[in-house]
Amino acid sequence: MEKSINVTVWCETGDALGAYPQGLHNAIAEFLSNSNNFKTVRAVSLEQPEQGMSEEILRNTDVLLWWGHCFHHLVSEETAERVHKRVLSGMGLIVLHSGHASKIFQRLLGTETNKLRWREIGERERVWKIAHHHPITEGVPEYFDIPKSEMYGEFFHIPAPEELLFISWYEGGEVFRSGCTFTRGGGKIFFFSPGHESYPIYYMPEIQRILVNAAKWAAPPGFPEILYDEQKTPPEGKYGFRV
Ligand code: ZN
Repeated sequence: MEKSINVTVWCETGDALGAYPQGLHNAIAEFLSNSNNFKTVRAVSLEQPEQGMSEEILRNTDVLLWWGHCFHHLVSEETAERVHKRVLSGMGLIVLHSGHASKIFQRLLGTETNKLRWREIGERERVWKIAHHHPITEGVPEYFDIPKSEMYGEFFHIPAPEELLFISWYEGGEVFRSGCTFTRGGGKIFFFSPGHESYPIYYMPEIQRILVNAAKWAAPPGFPEILYDEQKTPPEGKYGFRV
């Protein structure tokens, strides 16, 4: 099958980060690329020209993965606006971990998505798959454990997800909607919470499988180009139906 999906992984820093000496975006780009499912996979970061999100890069991106944590405030309104528009016109978006508090996720969902419970003591997270017939959960076990994770707990201020694919449970007792989908305009959105930088979570085969599946799922199916200028002639004749 011909590969057609162009993927971009964005990170708020191009530097080494926690368990990722090569840069977290590069680690994600590497396993996506090794999966052999995508035409191109590139890694970009905040320090780059136009914050790594130029019109040209966005135009050539079918699916964008977004990882941010401490520097959401450094992402300009212009950058958020460009990404927002591109999602509405069909680009898939995968929001990772602390990307829940990013400008782009809050804009798209329209709620205070930065609000959730959290705790970082390296406790176990059990990720339960609760949608068994969805492309993103394909090949993923019924549940798997992340030995050390950061806890994100309910209540999480998101609108009701269109599909709830994963729920996480933590040793401390909290639960969290850790894998959810949304649609905004032509863009498919997947939020996936595991991925705190201190722990080697993106090296786990289950996590990699989920993100490869998600990037394939989020690719635009061919959102139609619609002309919104005045329609002088009804499509089916004068009265809107064939006479
Ligand atoms: Zn974190």
